[in-house]
This record gives sequence, C-alpha cells and structure tokens, in this order.
Amino acid sequence: MQTLRDRLLTDNEIAPLIISADKVAHVQLNNPLQHALLVLIKSGYTAIPVLDSSFHLRGMISKSLILDSLLGEHDFELDRLSTLTVGDCMNQDVPCIRPEATFSKALSLSINHPFLCVVDDQKAFTGILTRRSILKLISKYMHQH
Ligand code: AMP
Repeated sequence: MQTLRDRLLTDNEIAPLIISADKVAHVQLNNPLQHALLVLIKSGYTAIPVLDSSFHLRGMISKSLILDSLLGEHDFELDRLSTLTVGDCMNQDVPCIRPEATFSKALSLSINHPFLCVVDDQKAFTGILTRRSILKLISKYMHQH
C-alpha cells in the first residue's frame, strides 16, 4: 500500500494547484495606497501581489504594511493614503516558486508563508499557490484508503 509520502512524491507537480493570474487580486506599483487598501478590504485578503505594467512581480502589499506606513509620530496620517504609492510601502521580499517546481518544494516554502507567488524565469507572474491548497491535497491523501 502507498504511504502518504509515496503519494505526495508521485503527485509531484504543483501546476494543478495554481490559482491562475487572471483570478488573483493584485495592485500595481504606482497605485495610491488608498486603492490597495480598498482592494484588500473588498477582497478580504490579508496580502496581495504587486505587479508592474508588464505583469512582472515586484512585491507584495498587506493591510499591516499599509497601517505601518500611515503611522506618524503620534497619530495615523491618513493623507498618506493618497500621497504614498504601493511601491513606497510594499515588501519586495516575496516568496516565489516556479510553475515546474515540485510539490515537496512548495510544501517546505509554505510552512512560513500563507501563499507563494508563481513566476517564470523572467519574473512574469503566472499565479499563486496557497498553503490551503497544499494542506487540502495532503488531507485528501491522508483520508484515502
Ligand atoms: P487562503 O488560503 O484562500 O485563505 O489564502 C491565503 C492568502 O493567499 C490570502 O490571505 C491572500 O493573501 C492570498 N490569496 C488567496 N487567494 C487569492 C486571490 N484570488 N487573489 C489574491 N490573493 C489571494
């Protein structure tokens, strides 16, 4: 009988788990922070990818990064929502994975990140891989006989 490990090693590709770029909420580098906050609140996501005009991955923006950048010495400075851009506040250190990466690599990376950005060699954005989809697959295999 196949063990869970055998099954995960056989089911080696992440491709079927990827949420394709056209279904991923994102913002652009030069968008005002206000726009990013609206997209985050409306979508209900904690963080979303930041792309440039040629659809290349440039970073990630989150509600907490936005709140941090609004914080002045004593108060929140709400005018920064229109004066700062996403590029001013985003995190450029984004966990990435290639579309042809193995499931095992995705599993290791997702320990520390709720989602991974899927990019090709030129950093063109092809989608995301969530920790949820990885855990769902593991759970499916655990409960199969
Ligand atoms: P989930 O596992 O569905 O809770 O997603 C985990 C995180 O992945 C979310 O909080 C978002 O940061 C990101 N995410 C998931 N789906 C999307 C999507 N369609 N568009 C943008 N970000 C997403």
